[in-house]
Amino acid sequence: MKPSTLLDELRVRPGDAPGLDRRDPGARLGAADKPAGIERLAELVEQLGVLHNRLYAEAKHSVLLVLQGMDAAGKDGVIRSVFTGVNPQGCRVESFKAPAPIELAHDFLWRVHALCPADGEIAIFNRSHYEDVVVVRVRELVDEKIWRRRYAHIRAFEALLGDEGTRVVKVFLHESKEGQRQRLQERLDDPEKRWKFRAGDLDDRVLWDDFQAAYEDAISATSTEDAPWYVVPADHNWSRNLCVAEILVDALERLDPKLPEPVTDKVTIL
Ligand code: AMP
Ligand code: MG
Repeated sequence: MKPSTLLDELRVRPGDAPGLDRRDPGARLGAADKPAGIERLAELVEQLGVLHNRLYAEAKHSVLLVLQGMDAAGKDGVIRSVFTGVNPQGCRVESFKAPAPIELAHDFLWRVHALCPADGEIAIFNRSHYEDVVVVRVRELVDEKIWRRRYAHIRAFEALLGDEGTRVVKVFLHESKEGQRQRLQERLDDPEKRWKFRAGDLDDRVLWDDFQAAYEDAISATSTEDAPWYVVPADHNWSRNLCVAEILVDALERLDPKLPEPVTDKVTIL
């Protein structure tokens, strides 16, 4: 599949519902098989490094990658594998946890806006302001009237970021409930991964259908031309990583960052 066709398949068009229950979390997209997928990922990782270097040098635009998904959908795995070619100088990961009292005392975008990328940067949001329309809805942390009007606030906020030079791309890592069961079990069984397991993961799992419904609505309401959502099948790590890398390379290519003109034509240092 050509990258452009792949991206069309993953992208949720403005006004459309993502149709999460019709999309297969076990789909293997982006390459014919795993070895080909790993090879293609290596190419994309290299391209990302080059494009990010230009973005950083030009210091005119920035990229914000929003990663959402249920527990064990692979948010951490994507960050670990897709960004191996990106210079840590000019790239930042921000993980959003349950808000602290000072954050709750402000509007829901207050803590988010402060962490958006500066010119030249890529910022990766491991969870994001979408928790404020998903988990708060499922757990009834705020009234429906409040989370519902946040869709419009989010659209306006992301439009502002776009207008000011930030390319916003949003990825929902779409795992199956069975896939999550396997990955949470692996987490418990592996002493190196057990620390990641929280009792709360199981509480969220019980509310699986409510979370899916909340994601379905949030993605429908906020996928726009300039800040699109992509739904990435997440049950197979190699395909998941590859799809996210394709999305990011496309986002950077659209910005088409250029190296600044050299300040001198002198080529020999005496
Ligand atoms: P993890 O990403 O697994 O470390 O878990 C972070 C936890 O923080 C998840 O259970 C999120 O749902 C929760 N969280 C993040 N942002 C918010 C928010 N705005 N309101 C409530 N809970 C949140
Ligand atoms: Mg977790």
